[in-house]
Amino acid sequence: MNRCTKAIIYKENLKYNLQQIRKYVDKNVKICVAVKADGYGHNAVLTAQIAQEEGIDFLAVATVDEALELRNAGIKTNILLLSICTPPEMNDLFEYQITPLVFSKEYITLLIKTADLFCETHNLNTKFKVHLAVDTGMGRIGCYPEEAGEQAKLIADSKHLELGGMCTHFAVSDSLSDDNQKYTMQQYEQFKIAVENVKAQGINPGICSCGSSAALLNNPEVHFDMVRPGIITYGYYPDEITHEYLTSKGKSFDIKPVLTLETKVVAIRHFYKGKSISYGRTYTCEEDTDIAVLPIGYADGLLRRYSPGLEVTINGKNYPVCGRICMDQCMVNIGKDNKDVHLWDKVLIFGPKESGASNTADDLAKLGKTISYEVLTSITKRVQRVII
Ligand SMILES: *Cc1c(COP(=O)(O)O)cnc(C)c1O
Repeated sequence: MNRCTKAIIYKENLKYNLQQIRKYVDKNVKICVAVKADGYGHNAVLTAQIAQEEGIDFLAVATVDEALELRNAGIKTNILLLSICTPPEMNDLFEYQITPLVFSKEYITLLIKTADLFCETHNLNTKFKVHLAVDTGMGRIGCYPEEAGEQAKLIADSKHLELGGMCTHFAVSDSLSDDNQKYTMQQYEQFKIAVENVKAQGINPGICSCGSSAALLNNPEVHFDMVRPGIITYGYYPDEITHEYLTSKGKSFDIKPVLTLETKVVAIRHFYKGKSISYGRTYTCEEDTDIAVLPIGYADGLLRRYSPGLEVTINGKNYPVCGRICMDQCMVNIGKDNKDVHLWDKVLIFGPKESGASNTADDLAKLGKTISYEVLTSITKRVQRVII
């Protein structure tokens, strides 16, 4: 575990962000922190432990395996499974107290069968909570609002399931255009209709939630019983809902990036004018220069499309990555006889200000024509997470 390419995770920043979220949201509103995809690449167990210490109500994962990892690490907080699992995975939902999102008669019927069998085998007379997902315009999973009453009834009439909540997901709440904000409000109205349909069946809809980070920050009127922040937990703002925008609206909100991606200079090589660098020979030295070789590449999550454009920070100064990023290595032009760069010096790819990095995940996202979410979750397993 002495590899020099690593991700440093600042525990205090994670805690700070969770405290900021708790302060920002009305105290009656519950919080469900998304820790899917290994906590957006930040270590799900660590994030869950801190969230649990901070009294967060729910954690959200995408797969049953992700939920099991948390349970095996001793996490007791409620876990919401945001995606659909397969029939062979269903038994674990009951065994490990994982709350699934459900919709569709077929899926609910399969769950009822599994729950009945589980309770029979274990001689239990309990009811397991499920949350009904409603598709109000995301176009992903969920029933249509007009089907919600019927599906809630199917759940309520079963012996071992009960409706613990309802949820929907916004498609464009991170955009500020009038059209998109209007679309978000329409989704919210549709969700309210679904909730009313369930109530009309005489069924308690339970904990209703719709907002992820963007709506949490920008649309307090849609918070309902619970919000589901993901990206802001890790210190990044969702697209157009930036720090500046929120401050201008008098809704200032402060968070700090949690992860620094760093490596070291493992070789310094002298190159002559006219020599080409890396695959495809896309870069040619215009003059005699020195090149630092870094042991980080796209198999670590340093996406190939960050170059050309990416600059890395060594001892407080920025230097350009030159030529293509390889699977395991990349090269940086440090200029001839650079007295500021030495073998084994630390190199910062991105991170919070206090790390000394000049890039954030948002800067890399711009270079890679993507979003901070993808920059963070692209960091692979090969990169050790060092928690400090
Ligand atoms: C990932 C996810 C979230 C969190 O989204 P952020 O934009 O990261 O806040 C919330 N709800 C659902 C259903 C999700 O899939």
